[in-house]
Amino acid sequence: MEKEELIEKLIKQGYLKSKEVIQAMRDVPREVFIPESQKKYAYYDTPLEIGYSQTISAPHMVAIMLEALKPEQDSKVLEIGTGTGYHAAVTAKIVKNGKIYSIERIPELAEKARENFKKLGIKNIEVIVGDGSLGLPEHAPYSHIYATCSAPSLNPRLIEQLDENGKLLLPVGRIYGELWLIEKKKGKIRKKNLGGCAFVPMIGKGGYNED
Ligand code: SAM
Repeated sequence: MEKEELIEKLIKQGYLKSKEVIQAMRDVPREVFIPESQKKYAYYDTPLEIGYSQTISAPHMVAIMLEALKPEQDSKVLEIGTGTGYHAAVTAKIVKNGKIYSIERIPELAEKARENFKKLGIKNIEVIVGDGSLGLPEHAPYSHIYATCSAPSLNPRLIEQLDENGKLLLPVGRIYGELWLIEKKKGKIRKKNLGGCAFVPMIGKGGYNED
């Protein structure tokens, strides 16, 4: 399957809706973020192995999350779980004048992501190595926070790091969980369950223990 074929499929299935997200997915070559042996599957709508028992997210999940989060050109975003950087790179195509902080606990993946961003000339993503399960308070507040790994609970420490009108998107559950959207508005918190999802576990102080 080719990139355009996949994008058309995601539009038909209703995952891709807005022109910003569609263009951003068109602009990012997913094969760059995938190990050599798996590159032939780059435009299959499925997660793929990236080493260290981790995966690159499925394109439909990146689409669902970006359509729900709706970052803007000047947003300040925190991503928890960089992997090799695909989701962050698509986000960066929307957040053209803003900044993305992306935290990854596995140093080798963080380094790979940095290389991939360099290869594609993406300059507004800062990759940090560490445990992002309690967010990244030193750069807070953020207009948008999302995790690409599944947390045990909706941790209030993450909600605290949102600015006024901020949005948080968090998978909650052990591998098979639910995707929660939290919106802050005038000091009030609104929570919405966007449905089932499957992610690798978030490992860390605010996450699960490493098995
Ligand atoms: N964003 C990636 C993409 O676009 O393909 C998805 C990567 S994978 C599904 C989730 C990542 O979260 C893994 O690389 C894993 O190491 C990382 N992770 C798990 N727990 C973490 C934590 N507490 N802090 C930072 N990263 C974490």
